[in-house]
Formats: sequence, structure tokens, C-alpha cells
Amino acid sequence: SGFKDFHISKDILRALASLEYKNPTEVQHEVIPLALKKKDLIVKSQTGSGKTASFGIPICEMVKWEENKAQALILTPTRELAAQVKEDIENIGRFKRIKAAAIYGKQPFDKQKLELKQKTHIVTGTPGRVLDHMKKETLSLDRLKYLIIDEADEMLNMGFIDQVEAIIEKLPKDRVTLVFSATLPNDIENLCCKYMKNPIKIDI
Ligand code: AMP
Repeated sequence: SGFKDFHISKDILRALASLEYKNPTEVQHEVIPLALKKKDLIVKSQTGSGKTASFGIPICEMVKWEENKAQALILTPTRELAAQVKEDIENIGRFKRIKAAAIYGKQPFDKQKLELKQKTHIVTGTPGRVLDHMKKETLSLDRLKYLIIDEADEMLNMGFIDQVEAIIEKLPKDRVTLVFSATLPNDIENLCCKYMKNPIKIDI
């Protein structure tokens, strides 16, 4: 398939074939090679462009299965998106047996606490609940390699930016940060300036 050029592993290629993804979309074509090279990226893209797989594929590729700690965190503005992204990630990572957990508000904290105690490679969630789990030490992110901020402008509109910043402050500095947003208002640009390393801008 058109994904072979990215030199990703057989397990992931097999999953993409079973999802009937034959060729990368434009955003995937731009993002996947750079994310695999561990570049920080600011990606201006819309829902429906295939953006979820554009970060899902490289993070599933990079996850070390044996390491039983969260290696990637995806922050989303809504519960629905957190659940959807978790499902997409598990589909892409199915033949690698990648485990993802979605943590968001309005769901029992203790149930999520138990889920986080199981093997979890990748965590998706809304900022408030993610911060709660970090503060209560039910989510350990000291081995985090990738941070993805999805729909960053929505995060800003919903008033979550301070929580996002509080989360970033606690994360390991040696990580890759990918920011996805339909628009790039000043507050998002400033956040990127503050927390990213020489980010490359991709405008789809
Ligand atoms: P997203 O923009 O991530 O919400 O993705 C939009 C839709 O496109 C989802 O239903 C994906 O399953 C689908 N999709 C993502 N990448 C591809 C691809 N390379 N080929 C075909 N469908 C895709």
C-alpha cells in the first residue's frame, strides 16, 4: 500500500489494510514521516482529513509494547472525541496489541483508576480529568514520549487552556509535541512557542 513508503512495521501495515486505508491522506502524508523523526509539529487541519491516524500511526509505531507505562497522551476537548480517538488508536495498534485508555469527566473516577492500573500504552482524555488523575497519582506520565493536543482551538474556546498548561508543566521535557487545530489564534501560537521545540508548521 501507499503506507509502505513510511517504513512502518508489518503489524501496523496489516491493521491499515484491515481498516481499508489504502493510501495516506494529505495530512498523513505530511505528518507521519516528520512525527516518526520526532519533530514537533503544529498542524492546521480539519476533522475528516484523517488527522487522527496521522498521529495514531506514528505513536503506535513508536510504542514499546513491553513498557507498561503511558508513552503517549492525547488531550481532546470533548469526551466523545477522547473515546473516538481511543477506538481509532486500538484499531491501528490491534496487531501490536496496543492498549489505550480513555479518561474523561462524568464517569466514575475509580473505574478509570482500575483501568489505568492495567497495561496502558496510550492515554486519551479531557484536560480536567487527566489533571485529576495526575494529581492523585493514578496516572503516571514519567515515561511519556509523545504529547498530542487535538482540536487545540476548541480547547481554548471551552476554557481548558489553563488546565492544558498545568498538564504540560508536569510532563517530561524530552518528548515530542504535536498540536492539531483548525485555526491558530494567538493564544495557541503562544502556547506552542512556550512549550514546543522548533515546531514545524503544516497547513493542509
Ligand atoms: P479523522 O479526520 O481522523 O476524523 O478521519 C476521518 C475519517 O477518515 C475516519 O472515518 C477515518 O477512519 C478515515 N480515514 C483516515 N485515514 C484514512 C485513509 N488513509 N484512507 C481511508 N480512510 C481514512
